[in-house]
Amino acid sequence: MNVDLVVAGSGFFGLTVAERCAADLGLRVLVLERRGHIGGNAYSEPDPETGIEVHRYGAHLFHTSNRRVWEYANRFTTFTGYRHRVFSTFKGRVYSMPINLGTICAYFGRAFTPDEARALVAGHAAEVSNPSNLEEKAISLVGRPLYEAFIRGYTAKQWRTDPRELPAEIITRLPVRYTFDDRYFNDTYEGLPTGGYTAWLERMADHPRIEVRTETDFLGVRDDAAGNVPVVYTGPLDRYFGYAEGDLGWRTLDFETEVRPTGDFQGTPVMNYADEDVPYTRVHEFRHFHPEREYPSDRTVIMREYSRAAARGDEPYYPVNTAADRARLLAYRELARGERGVLFGGRLGTYKYLDMHMAIAGALSMVDNKLRPHFTGAARLTTGGVHE
Ligand code: FAD
Ligand code: UDP
Repeated sequence: MNVDLVVAGSGFFGLTVAERCAADLGLRVLVLERRGHIGGNAYSEPDPETGIEVHRYGAHLFHTSNRRVWEYANRFTTFTGYRHRVFSTFKGRVYSMPINLGTICAYFGRAFTPDEARALVAGHAAEVSNPSNLEEKAISLVGRPLYEAFIRGYTAKQWRTDPRELPAEIITRLPVRYTFDDRYFNDTYEGLPTGGYTAWLERMADHPRIEVRTETDFLGVRDDAAGNVPVVYTGPLDRYFGYAEGDLGWRTLDFETEVRPTGDFQGTPVMNYADEDVPYTRVHEFRHFHPEREYPSDRTVIMREYSRAAARGDEPYYPVNTAADRARLLAYRELARGERGVLFGGRLGTYKYLDMHMAIAGALSMVDNKLRPHFTGAARLTTGGVHE
């Protein structure tokens, strides 16, 4: 087919670019996907034995405060009323996460008012004044006792790195509340796609001007597929440049999925395990993401999640972002600027941890700021670059 734009990668970033360019700008878009299916890491499929929807690359919860993204998503799917809540097991007891007044009362074994809890935690947190790493930041937020129970072991397992060597920002993702609000996310909009993630992603790709080729690595076919056509590349930035500046560090996950002969394994979608001697970080039980669905009452699907550093053949899931990584990233960004007509986007293309709503928002802004001006003749794409 004659194409106007090539998109490498069919995750939320690539599909949003493809959909907008085909439907709004009238372009013919070729989407190349390395894997055997579309959707990137948000892909899900029914477990063959039970029919329970399993998120193959880890549980995905949709949440956003960005109205434009929410309205855009709602063109392709409706959402259930699911609200994410997480529990954490520590030394044989179960607590609510993120740390809230309920967690504090349960952990210290008595009732606290919000002011009493604040005063208690402020006393524990006073030992740190200028936090410069994850451990110090966490202690400055929740104090040492709660840090040692709920954060130290979990973080060490998740990052396979001493929390004193991790950047402080990682922990600021996790709120601390002095109320009994136990919701995981603070966003305005939240829910799970009623018909599942794959149905949503397929609807985005379902346009007569979009052609998707799976099992096709863009880097293997780029000259044939792209010619002089602009490219949006959402694969790993270092791989695009043949790792010329060294490998960017990623964390990968190993998932152990099992069908258990019970209608309910753990009574909740996600149970974290804070103890360092439990080898997995958390257990997902997929049926609980969709209580509105009819699933078998005698079987359930669970998935244990283990975390480790990624080698080259592994799925890159979370950017590790050490100082050495950040220096390499700058070098790759410089190379990217010199790539004529190639825009780099998405989680892998920018080496950034992006939630789904952030990937969609980033893609919409790439269309607004780069692709629309180029294709409507207002500003040609003479240089490439990493788009954040
Ligand atoms: P991806 O989904 O990674 O898609 C990139 C695609 O490009 C992949 O399909 C890949 O195969 C393909 N590709 C790579 N290289 C090439 C190439 N050379 N040629 C062709 N194709 C190529 N977000 C949330 O909002 N909520 C959550 O609860 C949540 N949970 C997550 C849990 C885990 C374990 C992980 C890893 C991520 C989670 N996310 C979550 C983030 C979410 O997965 C991302 O925001 C989203 O996948 C980003 O989309 P993307 O298109 O940038 O990247
Ligand atoms: N975290 C923790 N204990 C928990 C949950 C999270 O210490 O029970 C820390 C951990 O360092 C993690 C960070 O908080 O990397 C962010 O957690 P989040 O659940 O957002 O991580 P994700 O779901 O993206 O893996």
